[in-house]
Amino acid sequence: MPQHIHCTVSNCHYYGHGNKCMASEIVVVSDEFGVKQPDNVDATQASTFPATPAGSCMETCCKTFVPSDSNKTNVDGVTKSQSNFGGTNRTR
Ligand code: SF4
Repeated sequence: MPQHIHCTVSNCHYYGHGNKCMASEIVVVSDEFGVKQPDNVDATQASTFPATPAGSCMETCCKTFVPSDSNKTNVDGVTKSQSNFGGTNRTR
């Protein structure tokens, strides 16, 4: 089943029309863990990450975020597609 990630962070490199994330994959981690990781540590290595529990949504972050004007959009192996997860033209 294709995933469908909604996101309103419009200055992210992976942000797409209609508030959709166009990243090939993302990883969400606790703020505490994410702040300690370099930019090249991201979703492509997520299966090796430790569990990072959080107390509320305010303590989580999208580690895949990178500003659209950054020169680091290619450091983590995540790619940007023209269609969201699954490559289908979803209507909802
Ligand atoms: S990578 Fe994260 S912050 Fe960027 S559009 Fe996707 S979900 Fe939003």
